[in-house]
Amino acid sequence: MTTELLFRDDAYLKTATARVVAVHERGIELDRTIFYPLGGGQLGDTGALLRANGERLAIGDTRKGEAIDSVLHIPAGTPQLEVGETLQLEVDWERRYALMRLHTALHVMSCVVVAPVTGGNISPDKGRLDFDIDMSLLDAEKIERETNELIARGIETQTVWITDAELDTRPELVKTMSVQPPRGAGLVRLLKIPDIDLQPCGGTHVKNIGEIGAIRVLKIRSEGKRNKRVEIALAS
Ligand SMILES: [Zn+2]
Repeated sequence: MTTELLFRDDAYLKTATARVVAVHERGIELDRTIFYPLGGGQLGDTGALLRANGERLAIGDTRKGEAIDSVLHIPAGTPQLEVGETLQLEVDWERRYALMRLHTALHVMSCVVVAPVTGGNISPDKGRLDFDIDMSLLDAEKIERETNELIARGIETQTVWITDAELDTRPELVKTMSVQPPRGAGLVRLLKIPDIDLQPCGGTHVKNIGEIGAIRVLKIRSEGKRNKRVEIALAS
């Protein structure tokens, strides 16, 4: 079952209404959602589903289902829901906004550290990228300063869609070796930060990189020959 992914066009939706399509042991499927499912290194959203009778069902995680664009909302308890009923969706906005700011910050940082990206992860309190680079080329103070200088330019981000075929002609767009962009739907979504970054990404981002504020580099360490890890947090 395909879910309409409302966050893909508007990452700032905090509430929405949706209908229950299926309830099973893996989770709750809705006809549309504002909950981002775990993927591309970004954690799945948490929040709540509100029934018409006022009952509140906590959602502890969100995952992708088996079908393309299907989303599983994973409840904390055992849900008593009817297929077809209308619910009010509430995403845990403070947590999601932190994820959006950190996620966008990693896009900016990936242009300060010029090396292939071998991995990444974003949680609400910190984010990291792994690079295939020599340790001696990673300077925490320099990465922090240059990333914050770019953030201070306050550039608007853009979502751009290209075809699979266009992406094939521009392999340089794929910086992250461990996460290949999703194929098969015919179109690939790119995040564009004009003059800074352009790469395939299905995650949620802030509208203007100025919203990140500033970052600090928490640590840099080696996680193996081709994985030098740079971990960051929001400065405030
Ligand atoms: Zn992204």
